[in-house]
Amino acid sequence: MSPLPQTADFLLHPDWVVPVVPHGAILENYSIALTKDRITALLPRREAQAIDAQQVLELPGHTLLPGLINCHGHAAMSLLRGYADDQPLMPWLEQHIWPAEAAHASAQFVHDGTELAIAEMIRSGTTTFSDMYYFPDSCAATAERLGMRCQITFPVLDFPTAWARDADEYISKGLALRDNIKHSKLVSLGFGPHASYTVSEPNLVKVAILAAELDVAVQIHLHETAGEVLLAVEQNGERPLDTLHRLGLLGPRTQCVHMTDLGEQDIALLASTGAHVVHCPQSNMKLASGTCPVSKLMSRGVNVALGTDSAASNNDLNLFGEMKTAALLAKLQSGDATTLPAADALAMATINGARAMGMEEHIGSLEVGKQADLIAVDLSGPETQPLYSPLSQLVYTGNGSQVNHSWIAGEMVMEQRQLTHIDLPALATRTRAWQQRIAATAGQDK
Ligand SMILES: [Zn+2]
Repeated sequence: MSPLPQTADFLLHPDWVVPVVPHGAILENYSIALTKDRITALLPRREAQAIDAQQVLELPGHTLLPGLINCHGHAAMSLLRGYADDQPLMPWLEQHIWPAEAAHASAQFVHDGTELAIAEMIRSGTTTFSDMYYFPDSCAATAERLGMRCQITFPVLDFPTAWARDADEYISKGLALRDNIKHSKLVSLGFGPHASYTVSEPNLVKVAILAAELDVAVQIHLHETAGEVLLAVEQNGERPLDTLHRLGLLGPRTQCVHMTDLGEQDIALLASTGAHVVHCPQSNMKLASGTCPVSKLMSRGVNVALGTDSAASNNDLNLFGEMKTAALLAKLQSGDATTLPAADALAMATINGARAMGMEEHIGSLEVGKQADLIAVDLSGPETQPLYSPLSQLVYTGNGSQVNHSWIAGEMVMEQRQLTHIDLPALATRTRAWQQRIAATAGQDK
C-alpha cells in the first residue's frame, strides 16, 4: 500500500472507475488523484476527501478509464482520408496511395496530417498512438508539441521515397532521430520495416541485429492478406512469419500487424516466441484483406493489441469503434457469442497495447504509480442509458464523442471537449489547402 498523498494537482470524483487491471473490475464511488505526471491515489471517495487538491473535478455520470492505445497507424495519412475508397489492398496502394505520397509526402504534410490525426484521436479517447510513416522527425515533433504520447517505428524500405533513398539511409536517419529524442518523456522510437515483401532479407537481418542491440521495438505489416502469404510461399518456399523467425526477427520486441490467414503452426510460433499481434479489424474489413483469429490467439496466450491503421483505410481513428468491431467480428468468426467479451476488447485497446509497446509498467491501466494517462467518459446521455454495466456501455455503445476530458502524463489535453493544445479552425484551414492540392494533382479537382 502506498501512503495516502496529502496534496494533489487533480482530484477526480467520477461515478465509476474502470481501471482495466484487475481485468473486468468496475469501481463505484472511487476517486483518483494525479500529481505531476503520475496517478498518486485510487481510493474510495470518502477517504479521498482528506486530499488537498489544486483542482477538484466532480464528474457525475462519468467513468474514468485509462486512455486508449492505438497500436498501429500512419497518422499523416489522415490527409488521404476518403481519397481512394473501395479498392483491394494492392491496387489501393500501387495505383492511388503510393503515387499520392510520392507527389505530396513532405515534412509539412506529416506535420499537418499528424496534427489532424492527433486532434481526432484525443477527441475519441486515445492518449497513445503508434506511428509508421515517412518524416518521423516531423511526427515526433508534432506529438511532443501537442502533449501526445507516441511510439514511432520509423519506416525501413528497400525503395526510395521523399524521406530516404535506400534501407541504409532509412536506418541511419531513424537512428539519428532516436538520438535527438532520447530525453523525450512522450515519444519512444523503434524500427518499422514496412513488410517482408518490401524489405529484403539482408535488410531485415540488419533491423533484427540493431533492434536487439538497442533493445527497441520492431513493428511490421505481416500476413495482411492470404495473397501475400501465398506469393511468399511461391517465391521463397516459406510463409512470411517463418521468414521472420529464421531471420531472428520474431520475439517479445516484435509487433506483427494484421496477421490474417493464420494456421495452427503460425499461432504456436507466435506463442512460443512471445511476439505480439496488432489487430486492425476495420482496415482488414474495408480492404477485404482477411480476418485475424483473435480469440484463438488469445486462448494460446498471444498478446493481441488493437490498431486503426490509417484513416485512408478505416476511415477514422476512433478506438471505440474499433473495440466494438473487434468484439463483433470475433463473435461472428467463431460462431460463439461469448467470444471476446467487453472486458477483453477494452484490454486490447489499453493494457495489451501497452504490453506490445513494452510500456505496461507505465501506461494501459489506472494504478497508483503509473503515468496519468486517462479519460473521463460521460455515460449520462440517452445513448448510454440505462446503465447496467459501464464496461459493456463503453465497448458496445461508446462512440468517442462521450469522452469529455483527457489527461496525458498528467496534463489536461482536453477539457469539456475543448482541445487545450490544438487550434481547430486553423487546422481545418490547413487541411482544406492540402485537400485542394492533392485533388488537383490527382485530376480529381471538383
Ligand atoms: Zn498499416
